[in-house]
Order: sequence, then structure tokens, then C-alpha cells
Amino acid sequence: MKSLKQIITISLAALTLTACSGDDQGEVSVDISDRISGGGSSNGGPTANISGSFKNAHETGVFFSAESLGYLRDEYMGINSYDCQSSYADHYYETENTLIYGNPNLPESDFQHAANWIENNFSTALNAMGITKDEYFSLRGNVRLAALDSLQFQLYALDKGENYGTFMIPEQYGSSGYMTSEERTKWSYEAIYKATSADVVETLLSEPNGPRFTAENQILVEDKLYVCLHEKDSPWGWGEGHSLGVNIGAASVYTPNQVEQLIRHELIHTIQHALAGFVDWLPTPRWFSEGQAVYLSGMEVAHKSKHSEYEPTSVVTFWDEYGDPSDAYKHYGLAYQYLVEANGHDKLINMMKQLKGTSNWRLQWNIPEQQKYVEVFDSLNMLKADGTSLTVEDYRLNYQSIMSDYASN
Ligand SMILES: [Zn+2]
Repeated sequence: MKSLKQIITISLAALTLTACSGDDQGEVSVDISDRISGGGSSNGGPTANISGSFKNAHETGVFFSAESLGYLRDEYMGINSYDCQSSYADHYYETENTLIYGNPNLPESDFQHAANWIENNFSTALNAMGITKDEYFSLRGNVRLAALDSLQFQLYALDKGENYGTFMIPEQYGSSGYMTSEERTKWSYEAIYKATSADVVETLLSEPNGPRFTAENQILVEDKLYVCLHEKDSPWGWGEGHSLGVNIGAASVYTPNQVEQLIRHELIHTIQHALAGFVDWLPTPRWFSEGQAVYLSGMEVAHKSKHSEYEPTSVVTFWDEYGDPSDAYKHYGLAYQYLVEANGHDKLINMMKQLKGTSNWRLQWNIPEQQKYVEVFDSLNMLKADGTSLTVEDYRLNYQSIMSDYASN
């Protein structure tokens, strides 16, 4: 039998793709000052020199991933992080908020350039999302994905009354008899979500089946943004936001247009993971995650009069996207703009916080959006611009007529 976990793992992987094209950076709408304030330079060059230093992980113990410490498991830190999970896991440049890994043969200025981009845009992205740096790191947590994933796998194998390290399933859990795979999935994810990092460390370092993690630094991360410098020479997928940071290209190899906005966009993705995500996955539909990142980073948003050119709210997963991605992104931005104008930013951020840790591992086939997203969105009484109620289903099915009203006002 194909287990529920297998199916879920596949769907999680599909929804983890937050890589963004750098080629959707054409004209930038002019009124971005409402959406962002402060931030880095506009020309993509380094501004104030961010102080930092090069370090060797063999001396500090701060490696890019658990994989680089011998635990052979992809940590979902983005497609462009693979080199940093293997060859370049130990050479890094550290600044106040970043750890930048990459090929040691790249010029030092590439690392410094990346640090400037990220440091100059981090507080802007945090402000745009309405949270502080401390909140961000606290919401993100400090347990590596590989550790959570490994632990969840072990906990999934338990039945009621059994324990694994400090984790135990109560005798009375769930329905009578053996736990179903769905119950075991639900329990194991809830357990790792609620776990303290001390519990995770204690359990993984004393695993009954022989510890695969042998040191605390394989399990925990620093309160920094983990960045992998890749060496691709094209705009497609140049930037990626993931649950521990962002991956961007080396400036000496290729620098996309409007790079500052792109960096902010990717930083907003990593903040989304902290606000609403669970392990490495986001419960919000693709149009929402991308639309929010487009809108709040100051990227171009489609004009409301052009709404009929795309159906953004039908793009729930990565696989639903169609047409030219740069057009799609502008329309995701428009769909988000409408929502934020009618409801206010705080309500949308509040919705995301309510989704945190409650990702829906019950599969559903009748509606494309995640059940928990639908429940929270609809329970918050989201509104249309005219003050009447807006449901998730409304916005997906009646997007064009809602936008027609919007465009005529
Ligand atoms: Zn994006």
C-alpha cells in the first residue's frame, strides 16, 4: 500500500517550490512607497559596507546543512542549495544576520555583495510583513529540517502507548484499536511541531536504534539567514526563498535586473515560511504566496483593468501555473493587492499566523486549497471591496466578476 506519508511527501515537495524567475523584472510600478519603506540601494550595487568575516566551518562547527555533516538527506533548502549541501558546506562569510556559503574560488566580493544585498533588504522585508527580527527567528525555530524529518519518520512508526526518546503517544489516543496511518501521521507531525529543541536534541542524540545524529550542530541552526551562492548565469530561478533563508547567484557570474526587489521578494518567502509554514511547507495557495511577495517587494503588479488576462486564484499549486510566468506573477500581485485593499495587511498576516503549524495532512480531493487555509480564511470574514463577504471559493470561482467591479471603480 502506498502510505499516506509517501503521498504527502510528494505533495509537500511540489508546494515547496518557491523559486522565482528574475526575468519578471521589467517595468516597476511607481507607487511602491506605500508597500515598502527604507531598504537598500536601487541600482543593485553594494551600499554601506556590511561588516563581516570569512570563516571555516571545521573551526566553528557551523555547517550549511546536516547533509554536509554526514547525514545524507536533502534538507529542502532549495534547488540551488545542492552545492552548498555537499562541496561548499564549510566556507562561509558571516555578517550580523547572514551566513553565506559558496564556492571558495569565487571572488570574496561576491560573498560581500550578497551580504550587502541581504542585510540591506532584510529589515525592509520584515517591516513589509509586519514582524520584528526577533519574532522572525523565534517563529522560524532553530531545529534543522533534516532533524525534524528524521524524528517525524520515527514517531510515525509508533502506536499508542509507545515512546521514542522523550516522545510518547498516550494510550487513549485516537479511535480504538491500532492507530490508522492517518492518525499516526497527524500525531507525529503535531508532536514535532510542539517539541522543544531540547527534546529533539535529547531524543536524536540517544536514539534507541543507534544515533544517526551525533552532535548538536547537526540538529540545530543559528539565528541567521542561511544563504547559498550559486553560479547560474541566467535569470530563471536566480533567487529562491526557503525555510532557513535564500539562495541567490554570485554577482560576478550574473546579476538580474531589479535585483534589490528580487532579494526582498525572496526574503519575504523565507518570512512566510516562519509566519505560516510548517517544517518546509506553506499552506497558502501559490497565487497568495507569490502575490504577497510580488506586492510587498515592490515588483510590478498587473493593472486592474487587465484582470481578464489571467486567472490567478485558480493557481493553487505550482503545477497549476500556466502561460508566461512573468505575466502570472503580476496577476498574483493584483489578486493580493485586491485582498489587502479590502481587508488590510494585518488581517492577512493574522490569517497566516493562524495557519502556523496547522498544515493539513489530511488529504482532500474536493477542493484544491488546503482545508486549513479555507477554514481560517473563511472564519476571518474576509471582505470584498464593497464590504460584502468573500470566501476562498468565491475568489477562485468568481475572480473575473469581482475584478470587473474593482476595475470599474
Ligand atoms: Zn516568489
